[in-house]
Amino acid sequence: MAYGNLETLYRQVIMDHYKNPRNKGLNGDDSFYTVHIKNPTCGDDLTIQIKVEDGRITEIYQDGVGCSISMSSASVMSETVKGMKIEDVLKIIDNYVHMVKGEPFDENLDMGDAIVYQGVSQFPQRFKCATIAWNALSKAIEKYLNSPYHKDEE
Ligand code: ZN
Repeated sequence: MAYGNLETLYRQVIMDHYKNPRNKGLNGDDSFYTVHIKNPTCGDDLTIQIKVEDGRITEIYQDGVGCSISMSSASVMSETVKGMKIEDVLKIIDNYVHMVKGEPFDENLDMGDAIVYQGVSQFPQRFKCATIAWNALSKAIEKYLNSPYHKDEE
C-alpha cells in the first residue's frame, strides 16, 4: 500500500474511534483500579478503570474530554488491551511509547489499531495527547501490582 493510502486509512481509524468510542463511560465498581489524568497544555482530561482477574484485564472503561488524538487513543487503548495478560500489556505500553517518540520499536509486536498513531512521532507537541491513555493504564496497572489484594495472591 502506498504511504498516502496508509495515512488515509490511519486517519479513518482515528476518526472512527473518536466518533464511536469503545468502552466509554465509567461503569466500574469498587473492584476496579481507577486513574484520572489531565494534560493541561491541551485540555485533555481522562479517567480509566480496569478490572484484573487471573492476571488479565477482563474489563476496562474510559471516559473524558479532550482532543481527537487523546480521546480516540483512549478508545483504541481500551479495545487493544481488553482480555490481555498484564505482562503482555506492559510490553505494548513500552513499545507504543517508543513508537510515538519516533524511537526504534518492535514492529512485529501486535499492537492492534494502536499502530495508527505511528505518525504522531512527526508531531512531538502531540506526544502527551497520544500517550495520556497509555500513561493512565500504566498507573492503573501499578495500582493493581501494589495492591494488598494482589500481593495476597502470590
Ligand atoms: Zn490533546
